[in-house]
Formats: sequence, C-alpha cells, structure tokens
Amino acid sequence: MSLSHPVTFASGGAKLDRATHLRGATKRLLRDKQARLLPLSEGRVLMEQGDGWHRLAWVPTTPDTLKLTREAPIFLGLFEDTPVFAADFSSIAPERLERSFIAGAKLHDLRSVAGEISAGEASVAATAKGVLGWHATHLFCARCGAESRPEEGGWRRRCVECDGLHFPRIDPVVIMLVTHGERVLLGRQEAWADRVFSLLAGFMEPGESIEDAVRRETREEAGIEIGRVRYLACQPWPFPSSLMLACAAEALSTEITIDTQELEDATWVNKSDLPDILAGKHQQFAAPRVSAIARIVLSAWAMGEIPDFD
Ligand SMILES: [Zn+2]
Repeated sequence: MSLSHPVTFASGGAKLDRATHLRGATKRLLRDKQARLLPLSEGRVLMEQGDGWHRLAWVPTTPDTLKLTREAPIFLGLFEDTPVFAADFSSIAPERLERSFIAGAKLHDLRSVAGEISAGEASVAATAKGVLGWHATHLFCARCGAESRPEEGGWRRRCVECDGLHFPRIDPVVIMLVTHGERVLLGRQEAWADRVFSLLAGFMEPGESIEDAVRRETREEAGIEIGRVRYLACQPWPFPSSLMLACAAEALSTEITIDTQELEDATWVNKSDLPDILAGKHQQFAAPRVSAIARIVLSAWAMGEIPDFD
C-alpha cells in the first residue's frame, strides 16, 4: 500500500539518478563545469535559508574547493541531469566552511529542516549524510585493521593491505503500528522531550524476517503478543544509518509489561485522541517530529488510510 502523505527522505528520490555506471568516472565528472558539490561537516548539511525555506547550498567542484575536503567527494549521481557530489569538510572549522562559499549559508541538522526543503533535496541530502557518515567511521579495514581507501565514487572502500572490500552499511529497524481495535500502542523513552509518545521500534537481527522482528520487539518492549503483520512503507533515516520499515501489527493481547531498559512508559491510546495529539493540543501526549515515519503512519491511521485487519 502507499500512504497519501509522502515519507520524508524517501520520496523524491526518483529525481536523483544514481548513475552507477558513472561511478568509475568520478575524476572526469568532477572537472565538469556544471558539476556541483554539497558540503557536509560533522553530519550537518550546508544550506541557504530564507523566511520559512531552506535549500541545499551546492558549490562548484573547483580545485580550491576540493583541497578542503577530508577525502575524495562521493559521486551521488545525476540530479536534474547535473553531476552531483557530496564531501565531508569536517577537517576544517565549521565557521570557515560557512564563510567559504555562499554568503549566509549555514550548517543544519537535517532532521530539523526536513520540512522546509523539497522532497527531492531531502532525499539527496539523506543519501549524502548516510554515505559520508559511513566513511567517517570506517576508515580502517574490519578484517585486518589496516587503512582503507574510498573507490567507485565513494560507494565502497578497499583495504590497502588485504584488498578487502567494504560497503556502506544500512541498519534495518522495524517500527510498528500495533493496534487493538480502535487503540494504538505508543511508548516513550526517557531521553525524549516531555509528553512525546511514538510507535515502538527496534533493530532487526541477523536471520530474522521483518515479521519476526516486529513480534519479538513488541513482546520484549511491551509484553504484547502480535498476530498478523503487514508492511506499510519505509524511510531512509541516516542518523546514522537506519532504514525504518513501518508495519501494521495486530495485537493479540492487551496487558502491557514494560522493559524499563528500553522504555520509560507505554500505553494504549484511542484513535479519537490522535487528531488533538497530532495538532499539539493534547494535555497528556505529544506526537513525534514531523519528519518521522512514526508520525506519518499515525496520521494515516487516524485518517482511515490504513485498513484494519478484519
Ligand atoms: Zn584489510
């Protein structure tokens, strides 16, 4: 099924042609006068901004620019037919980066501005953040510990000693709309802002199906048994490297037993309370952030877009 509200970071990806056949031609494409590069630093993205809008701050791929990057830029692909790259400028001071290219451009946390950039740019920025974040934490070979170097436009690393190849990692996370009739199971973690409750979620483990992971995580975190599970939608979530797999899950039991290591609280919430919660008008509960798939799924369920199990 598809949700009527676009999923942040997942929609608009069609505008980026990853052009994998060109990854070996990165050096030539970097010299293309049309080529543009998106600067990132410590996971934040350089953006231009105005009243209620942000847009990615693309800069030319000149030698002066390239000498400031920590490693060779990543070839993201062709965006509206232009070769586009992303590069990590974490080795220079953030203030210097902000001053270097476009007047007024600032580094931003992608989650906080996701609602103010276009779907296509959000998707491109999420790709850049995900792959650059992987490079920053995988400088050495996991097999032998020697240095590794990027190749194929930054889509893999090769060990200089043992020739081992390493690829960007993605960590799948199941996130569940657990329902029992007209009620949905929501939980909160201690670190979250006051009153925020969200869908339960957890990392998948090797050897697990998506359905198995939904059942295990719901049982572990809240003591609820799950019957049928249905896939809904997914969201790349590069904070740092998750892929959120949203599912509808049918609760077979209702008595909550919380795993206090994972959750501070969990409760059943009536569907009729969701409009107020989503509008920020509820006394007891607040919704997850606008860009999160949890909120998009909760909104869709509240509006009757997600069919019941019976
Ligand atoms: Zn090695």
